Amino acid sequence: MTPLTGPGCWYTSIWCRSTRKLALPEYNRNFPFFLLKYFYAVRGRGKKLGHFGSDGKVRHLLKCKSCKRWLETMSPQETLLRQKRLSKYCCSGLYCAVEEPATNNGEPVAFILFRGEDPMWVFGQKSTPISYCPWCGHRLPNRPYAEG
Ligand SMILES: [Zn+2]
Ligand SMILES: [Zn+2]
Repeated sequence: MTPLTGPGCWYTSIWCRSTRKLALPEYNRNFPFFLLKYFYAVRGRGKKLGHFGSDGKVRHLLKCKSCKRWLETMSPQETLLRQKRLSKYCCSGLYCAVEEPATNNGEPVAFILFRGEDPMWVFGQKSTPISYCPWCGHRLPNRPYAEG
């Protein structure tokens, strides 16, 4: 199995192979970052971490089922799922405070329903209500960033 063929290549076109060849060096340099950029791009937030891929052809990855499977099979599941979830958040600071409070030295952040109905974000041990992300200043939505 070579990185350019392998699992998920039940259908690979010349586009698939050339795209993978272009994407692999960037992937190998820092695959968690690569995956995060990929998921941002999938969500239409491609510019958040700079353009996805150093070459426009890498955008093929976003549309191709075979390449999607290739990327998913090649990547450690834990990292893949974490980056997918992280990409739903405004920034990694908030993601860590909400989803990984035990490993986060700072104050936890949680989404709650105040009196069972009013959506609200609370910050820290004192559960101070907040409307904006303390890390990036993004206005917080009226729902959790990631369900389940
Ligand atoms: Zn492809
Ligand atoms: Zn944020």
